[in-house]
Amino acid sequence: MRRKSMTEPSRQTVGHDAPVFRFAPSPNGRLHLGHALSALLNADMAEKMGGRLLLRIEDIDLARCSRELEQAVFDDLAWLGIPFETPARRQSEHFPLYREALDRLQAMGLIYPAFLSRGEVKARVSAHEREGAIWPRDPDGAPLYPTEERFLSEAERTERLATTERHAWRLDIDKARALVGKRLTWEETGDGPRGEIEADPAAWGDVVLWRSDAPASYHLAVTVDDAAQGVTHVVRGLDLFHATSVHRLLQALLGLPTPVYHHHRLISGPDGRKLSKSLGDTALAALWAEGRTPSDIRAMVGI
Ligand code: GLU
Repeated sequence: MRRKSMTEPSRQTVGHDAPVFRFAPSPNGRLHLGHALSALLNADMAEKMGGRLLLRIEDIDLARCSRELEQAVFDDLAWLGIPFETPARRQSEHFPLYREALDRLQAMGLIYPAFLSRGEVKARVSAHEREGAIWPRDPDGAPLYPTEERFLSEAERTERLATTERHAWRLDIDKARALVGKRLTWEETGDGPRGEIEADPAAWGDVVLWRSDAPASYHLAVTVDDAAQGVTHVVRGLDLFHATSVHRLLQALLGLPTPVYHHHRLISGPDGRKLSKSLGDTALAALWAEGRTPSDIRAMVGI
């Protein structure tokens, strides 16, 4: 099979109002069987619905992502024979767009500079927990940002910003929810709960929208990009089911459309754990080198 280059000009054969699907890997490791399931489901659903199939490279974490790993993503997907439109969108080329969204939220009074790093929050929380306190955690298990840090006086914030302390920007979730003022839902067609799902952004506390160590954040970039690319169907793993609550809130705040979501089952490793990019034996490249074929991969992920 000829390996199609991801930089060849796009061949688009579907109309303007066709459904739009996207696969959005982060090039911070090699793709594994879980990614293959996601990419193949996107491709199959797009084909069935006569939709477009986009590829987005989620590389805002400049320290962990690389062009070599991006090329490896292209190679693995080309080997699988998935016909993504080209060129792929690279998030690292759109930081000003995410900044614009952040500025809008700032103008609405919904974000604040957060001076404690995630590590510092963890340390503070561990100290409290050692004394028997129970600390609220987000759906991924990370402790919520300490209340006393959320309500710094304006003078203190200004002073700390002026001394150019490293900081992230967090969303004031209570203010944001109050501003939206209504129940938010999304349509879910995946392998977990289905139908009309009620978003619960409060479970996440004040999420980071702009990291101190990277421009933008996953939540902000993914929401802005899905709208910018006209994505109508988000097909991704169930590990991101709860994150959709944050995306739904950001859509409401920024006036963006809400796609249909399909959170698919996850593939676990031989030890029953979720696959990670460090599990070499489920890397597509390793399977490819062993002589497996793309149809073997389909069978291995159960489609
Ligand atoms: N970039 C994310 C990942 O690799 C996926 C984001 C998404 O599909 O919304 O896990």
